[in-house]
Parts: sequence; structure tokens; C-alpha cells
Amino acid sequence: MSFAEINLHPLVLSAVLESGYTEMTPVQLAAIPPALQGRDVLATAQTGTGKTAAFLLPSLTRLAADTAIVRRDAAAPRILVLAPTRELARQVLTAARKYGKNLRLNTVEVVGGLPYREQLRMLAKPVDIVVATPGRLIDHLDRGRLDLSKVEVLILDEADRMLDMGFLEDVEKVAAACSKQRQTLLFTATLDRRMAKLAEGLLNNPVRVEVAHTMENAAKIEQRLHHADDLEHKRKLLRHFAACETVGKAIVFTATKRDADTLAQDLYDAGHAAGALHGDMNQGQRNRTLDQLRTGRIRLLVATDVAARGIDVKDITHVINFDLPRQPEDYVHRIGRTGRAGAEGIAISFAGRVDREALVRIERYTKATMEVHVVPGLEPRRPISTAPVGRPSGPSRSFRNDGARSDAWGRSARPQDGRPAGGGRDYVANKGATHKPTPRAGSK
Ligand code: ADP
Ligand code: MG
Repeated sequence: MSFAEINLHPLVLSAVLESGYTEMTPVQLAAIPPALQGRDVLATAQTGTGKTAAFLLPSLTRLAADTAIVRRDAAAPRILVLAPTRELARQVLTAARKYGKNLRLNTVEVVGGLPYREQLRMLAKPVDIVVATPGRLIDHLDRGRLDLSKVEVLILDEADRMLDMGFLEDVEKVAAACSKQRQTLLFTATLDRRMAKLAEGLLNNPVRVEVAHTMENAAKIEQRLHHADDLEHKRKLLRHFAACETVGKAIVFTATKRDADTLAQDLYDAGHAAGALHGDMNQGQRNRTLDQLRTGRIRLLVATDVAARGIDVKDITHVINFDLPRQPEDYVHRIGRTGRAGAEGIAISFAGRVDREALVRIERYTKATMEVHVVPGLEPRRPISTAPVGRPSGPSRSFRNDGARSDAWGRSARPQDGRPAGGGRDYVANKGATHKPTPRAGSK
């Protein structure tokens, strides 16, 4: 269904159409109409599903309807968006300005890492929309620089990540400072008990929007797995992919900031346009790095999870998990950096024996199996045994190491269904540097 068929304000609609969108994504289709009616919305949808427009368009429509008659006050926004990181807040800000460009709005960013004085200057004028990270917003609130009593729409974007980052109390405090009559729109990738409790406290009889919890509606992303013996093996694999012609822009994820720096340096030393992105960098450095990635001056970005949250760079061809994330949700967020808005993308994960547990959880969560690939010349020393061992099967695709003979990953071989062991994965070799998978019979 197209944006033109719902009741967006004409000035909002024209900005949307100008940006090239015509059809709504599923989460937009489900969330925008009730939000336009003023209902609270609790939406779960994964990264890359178009949540930003889902909450901005109805909110902007509300502003557009009466901008001329409602008196705006200094430091008293009518719409407040809370986002977990500065990068994400910046993206929402950019989107709000884009969709709101035909309205005369003052949209202000209140995030850490920017000079206070500048922010105070921006807030001293009548303001319509504030996009903020919780910490800095609380600072201003505590100093009495910000009045949230006029907030008509409170939006929590990536609420689960805000909880993960320890912002629960801040979020509650902000919500308490907003008007009781406000509308609240809460967007999250995951809904656990903690989130349900927060939602119960903040939302009033919300419409529940749920975009199914699998990768199916996310863009098409091919997921590959490379077994790695040790750190050095991972490094060699990374250098291989860095040199692959088919790898355009890539984001490489590491577990620690230190590794992000070291690997970025490694790649740089090997002659690649590489850079690091992590939480120890100040906002200016982070923005510059992201701009360099956008403009192509950086081709390989080595990042940690928090820093990479919400990065929306359109032409990322590959996401490489140098380290697997502990949380399956993070995996989904990571690989969502590629294949944005329908484009195809490839996610490559390196995994060692210690990652078995994480891998199992990721595959269970995504309901997808990563296909095992090898790079010729960089095969793991202990490849997965694909030899049938004639053991009767347990439940299909069981990963438990139940004491029966199992492969190097503790997976029981399952010969009876005619598929190779190792969880029925196809075993695919990458031919040469072109990095094209060539199907091959299960090797010995
Ligand atoms: P999320 O917040 O769910 O991760 P975003 O709002 O960042 O997703 O949107 C992901 C990408 O999809 C962005 O590049 C955005 O511009 C694009 N997009 C959003 N809505 C549409 C649409 N209706 N049609 C085409 N592209 C869209
Ligand atoms: Mg988003």
C-alpha cells in the first residue's frame, strides 16, 4: 500500500514521495494509521524495516496540522525522540529534517559529545522536535534548561538497546517529565519481560504492531560461516576478504575497542582504506569516520556493536563478524547493516570452537542456518567431519553434545537423512579471490 493512500499531511507526503519512497514497509503500514489516530503504539520490528518513517510521519503530520496556530515555546518541544546512541539520534534528526522539510520546523539534536553552549543556543529558540540521547537530555532537564511538559508525542527508538545500555531510569524520568496526555510510540527489536514492564508503565492501551520475528522480512542477506582455528587464522581470513574484488564496502565487527583499532591498523597497513569506529572516539571523530564511509574514502570499517548501532550507509556489500556477538539480537542488528532496504547483502561470520554456543543461539533466533564456506588455502586445521558415523538420529538438527561421536563442533552426525553432518550444512568452497561460492560435494 502506498503512502498516498493514508492520511498523511500533504506537505509530509510530498517530502516522502520526493525521497523516492512509494510503498510502505510492513511496519509502516501497521504503525502509521493507528499513530495518526493518536493511539499509543508498541512496535517490534528488526533493523532495516523502516521504523524511522513509521514514527516520524504520523508525528510530523500532527505538527503540520497546527503549526500555524500552536504557539511554540523556547526549550519546550512538541515531539521528543529518544535514541540510544548519538549516531542513531543523528540519523533520526536527518530523517526528521528530510520528511519535515516542507514544514517550518525547528528540529534540535540533544546528544552527548556536542558542546553545551551550542545546544543551549539552539534550545533558546522556539523548538518543535528534539532528538536526544537519554544522558544528555537528563543533564539539560536537571539544569532546568528543557521543558518537557509540552511534549505531545514521546518516541522511544530502539528501546531495547536503551535498556541494554542502562538507560531504564533515565527513560522513565524523561517520560515522567512529559505531559500525561501525550502519545507514546515505542519501537524495539525485541520484547522481553523488562521491556514489557517498561511499556506497561509508559504506554496507554497501545496498539501492538509486530513484524514477524524472523529474518524473512528483512532484506535478503546471505549468511555464511567460516570456521577459524585461532586469532591468526581469523586475521588471514579477514585479509583475504579485504582483498576480494567482490567486497565493496564492508563493516567488520569485533568484540572489543582494542581489536577494532588493531584490525583497522592491520588492514590499513596492508594497503586498504580502513578505519575504526568505537565508543572511545569523540563525536566529531565518529561523524567524520561515518562520512568517510559514506563517501567511500573508507571502504572497510572496523567497529564495535554500540558504535555501529543504526549505521545506515546504503551500499554496504558485506558485514564480517570477526567475532560473533554474544547476543543473537546483536547479530541481527549487525547483519542488518548490509542489504539495506531490499538490496542484497552478504554476512560472513568467523567462528571458533568457543563460539559454538553463540552460534547455536544465533541460528535458533534467526531460524536460519549459516552456510559453511572455506577459502582455499585457508582451510581450518580441523574441518568439520562430514563422514557418516551410522548413529541413529536424535531430534533433527540437535546441537547438543550428547556423548555420541560428534564433529569438531560437538554436533552429532546425522547420516540417515542423507545430508552431511554438521547440522546439514552445505559445504561450499570459495574459489580464488573472486569469492564466488562453488558448490562442492561434502568433502572428506
Ligand atoms: P530501522 O530503523 O527499522 O532499522 P530505517 O528507518 O533506518 O530502518 O530504514 C532502513 C532503510 O530503509 C533506510 O535506508 C530508509 O531510508 C529505507 N526506507 C524506509 N522506508 C522505506 C520505504 N517505504 N521504501 C523504501 N525505502 C525505505
Ligand atoms: Mg532505526
